[in-house]
Amino acid sequence: MGDLKLTNLNKAYGALAVLHDINLTIEDGEFVVFVGPSGCGKSTLLRVIAGLEDITSGGIDMSGRDVRQLSPAERKIAMVFQSYALYPHMSVRKNLAFGLENLRFKREEIESRIAEAARMLAIEPYLERKPRQLSGGQRQRVAIGRAIVREPDIFLFDEPLSNLDAALRVQTRAEITKLHRDIKTTMIYVTHDQVEAMTMADKIVVLNAGRIEQVGSPLDLFDHPRNLFVAGFLGSPR
Ligand code: ADP
Ligand code: MG
Repeated sequence: MGDLKLTNLNKAYGALAVLHDINLTIEDGEFVVFVGPSGCGKSTLLRVIAGLEDITSGGIDMSGRDVRQLSPAERKIAMVFQSYALYPHMSVRKNLAFGLENLRFKREEIESRIAEAARMLAIEPYLERKPRQLSGGQRQRVAIGRAIVREPDIFLFDEPLSNLDAALRVQTRAEITKLHRDIKTTMIYVTHDQVEAMTMADKIVVLNAGRIEQVGSPLDLFDHPRNLFVAGFLGSPR
């Protein structure tokens, strides 16, 4: 299940300490937004949760198990990147299939998961195209589709809308919110955009220089910012 507990988590790149004593509990099914200024450690925190980076100290438990002990098949975490990271030489269908093929899923299972994801994201017409034959919004849907077919317990999104124009950002934001409502899987969503955080989150985690400043619902943070940083960053009138 998609609950996650970070305990006294520290991460440094050589002499550069990037994350300091992160303690955070995420419940199964929550939509959690990590928000904070550029360079505060959001992507690092997401990569650490995804198991793409080692940590310096502390613990990361998923359903009570240390994620570093889980095999790739057991670690049911899927990440959607800002840059889409699609394979340019592969069709959309192949992009969706690739991760499952590596995990040795059966062909019928792969095809049925692709069909389901394509239906949810309305990308059926593009399955045989290459990424370069798609618009930015369509590419981002494929990137989300690649996460969906894994049927993860946790989705991680790293600023997935930042390469889209303003209108498409609003539309895609609504689609991700709807996806969460439909499948009710834990989602952790990183953004530096306060409006995205306030409109999408069940729970917001405000990061500043590698530390958690405050955790709460959008309303909590807006009404009771714990300090000037949170108030200023979220644009509270105080
Ligand atoms: P954010 O996503 O909030 O903009 P990052 O997590 O990307 O922030 O970066 C946090 C800090 O860690 C920055 O100072 C960045 O330069 C540094 N950093 C990120 N990745 C690496 C890396 N692979 N090696 C060294 N320093 C890094
Ligand atoms: Mg980042």
